[in-house]
Amino acid sequence: MITKEWVSVHRKHHARCEGPEDPHSPQVYGIRKVLLEGAELYREATADKQITEQFGRGTPDDWLERNLYSRYNVLGVTILAIVEFALFGLAGIAVFAIQMLCIPVLAAGVINGLAHFWGYRNFETDDAATNITPIAAIICGEELHNNHHAYPSSARFSLRRWEFDLGWVYIRVFSALKLAKVRRVAPRPRFDASKTVMDIDTVKAIISSRLHVMESYARKVVRPVHAKELKVSSEHRQTLREAARDLLKVDHLLDDSGRSRVAAALATSESLNTVYELQNQLQDIWKKAGASQEALLASLQDWCNHAEATGIECLEEFAARLRGYELKPFNG
Ligand SMILES: [Zn+2]
Ligand SMILES: [Zn+2]
Repeated sequence: MITKEWVSVHRKHHARCEGPEDPHSPQVYGIRKVLLEGAELYREATADKQITEQFGRGTPDDWLERNLYSRYNVLGVTILAIVEFALFGLAGIAVFAIQMLCIPVLAAGVINGLAHFWGYRNFETDDAATNITPIAAIICGEELHNNHHAYPSSARFSLRRWEFDLGWVYIRVFSALKLAKVRRVAPRPRFDASKTVMDIDTVKAIISSRLHVMESYARKVVRPVHAKELKVSSEHRQTLREAARDLLKVDHLLDDSGRSRVAAALATSESLNTVYELQNQLQDIWKKAGASQEALLASLQDWCNHAEATGIECLEEFAARLRGYELKPFNG
């Protein structure tokens, strides 16, 4: 593909994610189509030159791009086929066929399709992006697609200790050789346990790591409360179990059946109801991100006071920890 075309389709995907204008959302086109006809969707998306111009700004526009890559965009793969045939005969052609299938199947099909459909989520992003497996090596870390949608400008896709991004290894090798420069990676929050008062700096740290905040809320508050309820309540076990995943989802990603599963589970437990309500309230604070920092500070302080008055231990601990949020600068 021509650089500008690929970039514009991909940027449009981020900008219009899971909506009718998303060039390749399985939530819109269905998983079958994106999985099997991913390359076709790219071709359709690049047919509109106005889109390419709008979303393709700033892509390389040098002599090589204009006179070689764009003009003879199948020359490279043709030479590759000839070289492989000359070196290995029919086996070379088989290798070539596999190489040619790789991108349409793995990138266009698996990443754009499966990684917006099935897998685990570290972050409740506004789209349906998922990480497919903990072992993302075969697609160079691209499988960590939920992390990528959470921090699209981060050069590194792996965020959890056990996630592995081979692409990041390459980037580090190239930057050690001074052939690449890392501009940005996802910010990692840091905690200062001695900090007990929330200030504007805390607000900045919390807002820019909001997905981390929500992820840790899910892990440290919702899941433990849910697990505790599961243990003590034998009659509602089934109802609680069915809602396990939906309880962590951002509201507008829930469909009707998800919503009714959540409602049924919340009806069984007061403490679960409280932590769910506070989860929504915390999410509502991000929506006010355009408000002044003083207003955000006041909302977060209110939220913490409310959380600390609930009598739910893990929620109180979470609120206390929230006060110690700081941003850790990235140093190489
Ligand atoms: Zn995506
Ligand atoms: Zn992307």
